[in-house]
Amino acid sequence: TTEVLPPVIRKLEEVVINRIAAGEIIQRPSNAVKELLENSLDAKCSSISINLKNGGLKLLQIQDNGTGIRKEDLGIVCERFTTSKLTCYEDLGTISTYGFRGEALASISHIAHLTITTKTANEQCAYKASYTDGKLNGLPKACAANQGTLISVEDLFYNVPTRKKAFKNPNEEHARVVDVVSRYAVHNPTVGFSLKKFGENLSDVKTSNNSSHIDNIRLIYGNNIARELLEIELNDDIFKFSVSGYISNVNFSTKKQIFILFINNRLVDSTALRKSLETVYSLYLPKGSHPFIYLSLSMDPRNVDVNVHPTKHEVHFLHEDSVIENTRQALESKLLGANTSRVFYTQA
Ligand code: ADP
Ligand code: MG
Repeated sequence: TTEVLPPVIRKLEEVVINRIAAGEIIQRPSNAVKELLENSLDAKCSSISINLKNGGLKLLQIQDNGTGIRKEDLGIVCERFTTSKLTCYEDLGTISTYGFRGEALASISHIAHLTITTKTANEQCAYKASYTDGKLNGLPKACAANQGTLISVEDLFYNVPTRKKAFKNPNEEHARVVDVVSRYAVHNPTVGFSLKKFGENLSDVKTSNNSSHIDNIRLIYGNNIARELLEIELNDDIFKFSVSGYISNVNFSTKKQIFILFINNRLVDSTALRKSLETVYSLYLPKGSHPFIYLSLSMDPRNVDVNVHPTKHEVHFLHEDSVIENTRQALESKLLGANTSRVFYTQA
């Protein structure tokens, strides 16, 4: 018999470990945009502008007019697990802001060139700092800027060649970013969103900070959808959750399903909920066509488990079957109760 010896086991270098972890959280530009949007919203801004080069692969810039980041915090803000939103494990349950793990900026700094320019209300000037692998490069530099934060992400995946090569089509990445920003714009009508390709005058998304959910649905998804919407409301005292949103009536159908789901103000997906709601429509809509559904669910944050996937997209929650069933029933009775399509008129 020939002797076969086992290979030596070695621990990977820290930067390699961090890079792998980062690549799981940020899989493409749209994941980074979602994290950065949530940070801006957490910072209570009323306007967010995004600029992209090559679908965000070459350059992704996001500017908000929120609280800014304290100068003293610029040194650690990109280290893993640094956050202003969570101080102990128990906070994970009660936290109502969007981000909560302190990993977004750190992850981005491990796989891209990250620069933060930020100004708080208390400082005379803004500070600009750049980061590599979680650490500050040099000291923050004083500069001029308005209150708020500008995050600039250059050359995403520059040090992950296999991932970088997998992006054949920047237009597809751009479209995914447009999709994420569109959804946040529908959900946040009191924040003005703008999204552009770098150097172009025309915006791909442009909303004002004093619009309504319906205004933004019309602007982004078109009047064909906006004029066929039913408003849905549900307060469930037994399972302690509430639902609000807009769903298309049975006169409307589209080839491509549009299902916009926010739970506690985070854009998420719940395959189980989506499928259950689709079944209701399948009785009324032509085969192979779909509804438009925008739902915002609120529930005790302790009941939502967003950590089933590193990108925090697919979620599970407590009493999932009952929450889904009761939502389905509310949607069904709304659809059946609306024998004439109710039209929402707002100023164009
Ligand atoms: P998390 O959002 O989970 O706290 P992040 O890595 O996304 O982790 O952000 C780390 C911290 O940086 C946040 O807790 C917040 O204090 C600060 N921060 C990030 N982006 C912004 C922003 N646009 N405006 C103000 N503060 C920000
Ligand atoms: Mg965050």
